[in-house]
Amino acid sequence: MYEIKDTLIPIPDDSDFTLHNIPFGVMRRDHSQPVVATRIGNTAIDLHALAMNHLLDDTGTSPGVFRQPVLNPFIALGQPVWRAVRQRLIYLFSDPDSPLVSNHHLFSQIATPIHGVEMLMPLHVGDYTDFYSSLEHATNVGIMFRDASNPLLPNWKHIPVGYHGRSSSIVVSGTPVHRPNGQTNPDNSPSPVFGPSRQVDFELEMAFVTGISTRLGDSISTDDAEKAIFGMVLFNDLSARDIQKWEYVPLGPFLGKNFGSIVSPWVVTLDALEPFRVQGPPQDPSPLPYLQFTGKKSFDIHLEVAIKTPQGTETAVCRSNFRHLYWNMAQQLAHHTVNGCNINVGDLYGSGTISGHEAGSFGSMLELAWKETRPITLADGTSRTFLNDHDTVIIRGFAKTNGIRVGFGEAVTTILPAKPIAL
Ligand code: MN
Repeated sequence: MYEIKDTLIPIPDDSDFTLHNIPFGVMRRDHSQPVVATRIGNTAIDLHALAMNHLLDDTGTSPGVFRQPVLNPFIALGQPVWRAVRQRLIYLFSDPDSPLVSNHHLFSQIATPIHGVEMLMPLHVGDYTDFYSSLEHATNVGIMFRDASNPLLPNWKHIPVGYHGRSSSIVVSGTPVHRPNGQTNPDNSPSPVFGPSRQVDFELEMAFVTGISTRLGDSISTDDAEKAIFGMVLFNDLSARDIQKWEYVPLGPFLGKNFGSIVSPWVVTLDALEPFRVQGPPQDPSPLPYLQFTGKKSFDIHLEVAIKTPQGTETAVCRSNFRHLYWNMAQQLAHHTVNGCNINVGDLYGSGTISGHEAGSFGSMLELAWKETRPITLADGTSRTFLNDHDTVIIRGFAKTNGIRVGFGEAVTTILPAKPIAL
């Protein structure tokens, strides 16, 4: 591993994008072709231009893999290649002997201020699965909707519960989402009503991206699972609670969940998250052998959700941490494939809403305002039990230890009014 000595690019204090990070994304400059990029401080780096100048030679890549609208072809080259490229980038932007030092012409070709680039959806997500892996979230929802004395269903501590979602409506940060129309049954009457959802919510999640493809019939052990993971993003799984409540019996989430989910534009590799490994919560009862694991399989990642009103004021409504999750990613992937379900490069796996123990750490408005009984007051004096039209939801996440900071930036979306439908 290359030791970081200096930096060629200024990195502001508390930047998520230090030389310890080196995430991967897809950007466009001046309406040109999309290219694979990384970010250092507030500078976007064009990896295609670097490769064309032979600065990524001998990493197992060719320039064409970086002139793509998504990361999938790069990810498909495999873990040794991602690692070699990331290590080369750290060297190029920190070593006094780097060919970028004193070559200002070359530097200007590959570096652009981040505000001057458009970040694109970084992945072609073929399949998307959403788990339900926070004990606190599952407990809160169980108390509110089922049985306060026995909130967890009997399977919850034995299975990383999940469902297959829809990938077409997963969008990159900055994409606004319309309030969904749909059927609801607010009064539990014999017949439903139709109209815009009145309970649009965020879900504070993270998601991992798989970096390998397997064959139908193959399974992945908890020991091998992390090798199959390329990296992680922030994830806002927008949810319409009133639509969800009416539709989910007996087959689970459907239109209340697939009207827009937002990912952060930079995929942070598991290598970058290595310094932040921690033990997850104890699991009692012990899960079945195929779900058991060794080592630290969770990560200490601070998470925050803020709501920004149209007037421009921002209020942090939730602070949580990825480490609270009961089931880890290795267990989720082992479970997902134990039946022989094949996976592909670029598939996305949401963690489920990440709630902590305290009220201020709950990862959805449903829980924060406790089913509309405890409205949240925002900085501008207005209150919320769910999201209003023109509210902007911002999820942020970063890890920090011993002066090393690696972050995810933001996953941002604005709720737009419902679109009229043709009848
Ligand atoms: Mn979700």
